[in-house]
Amino acid sequence: MDRRSFFKTTALGAGALAASSLPLGLVTSCTTAPAPKLHLSFQHGTPPGETLAEKLDYMEKLGIEGYEPGGKALLRDFAAIDAELRARNIKLSAICAGFDGFILAEDPAVKAEFDTSMREIVEAAGKLGSPGVIMVPAFNAQTPCKPHTLETRDYLCAELHELGEFALKCGTTVILEPLNRREAFYLRLVGDAAAIARDSESAGVKCMGDFWHMQEEVSDYGAFMSAGKEYLQHVHIASKGDRKMPGEHPEADDYTDGFRALKQMGYEGFVSFECGCGGEREILVPAAVELLREQWAKA
Ligand code: MG
Repeated sequence: MDRRSFFKTTALGAGALAASSLPLGLVTSCTTAPAPKLHLSFQHGTPPGETLAEKLDYMEKLGIEGYEPGGKALLRDFAAIDAELRARNIKLSAICAGFDGFILAEDPAVKAEFDTSMREIVEAAGKLGSPGVIMVPAFNAQTPCKPHTLETRDYLCAELHELGEFALKCGTTVILEPLNRREAFYLRLVGDAAAIARDSESAGVKCMGDFWHMQEEVSDYGAFMSAGKEYLQHVHIASKGDRKMPGEHPEADDYTDGFRALKQMGYEGFVSFECGCGGEREILVPAAVELLREQWAKA
């Protein structure tokens, strides 16, 4: 074999090997499957408007398809949210936390608070068709917390298994959200959250990525790809500059690397605004939506 044919053979072989190890969605998206649509969602505070109806009216005009309330608001306003969403083309994209206590609490009373309040939210989320309820295993400020050891990870996976199976029975999931090190040192990377979801051995345990917290990641593309379509259930977005509206820091707010991964893996979930606003909402919100649609098309 001369040098040229050796190179050609090994290059082809490497290509075939790489293709065979890719997720099916990635292979098909490169060949026949149409690129997935960008499904945007807002948290309650994102759109202008006083009442839920005003906010949802505004969202419909912008073509926003998902609504992400907090867990406490879900329980308090259950009937109103149910009634408003029935009449619209907007679905719950996720429920953002809202439980008391935390899953890695040392104090059994605090852990019990988590178990009770989280299950109440999960049940309500399932009834209204939310794909999941977002949770963080432990914020830095939540103490006393089980130590960051292998034993604690095993405990977390066992607890999540039970919770995930409960969520599945309710018709929903629980979604692990990694945060940056200043907020939650325990869980910082999307790939780690996906591995914990996998090791929990329940299809009711998923993970998400938040572009703001993903400052922890070396690569947005790599982070989403490491979770893949099987585990990635939700995405949060904000300006990478200061967690306000996407586009408020044009030099920093480039999401195309992450969007490229979402498109290639065939991600069908929501990209949900979780951010403040540094100016006039009526101007910055539509501008952010336009920016994200442009970047999605380009990615
Ligand atoms: Mg978030």
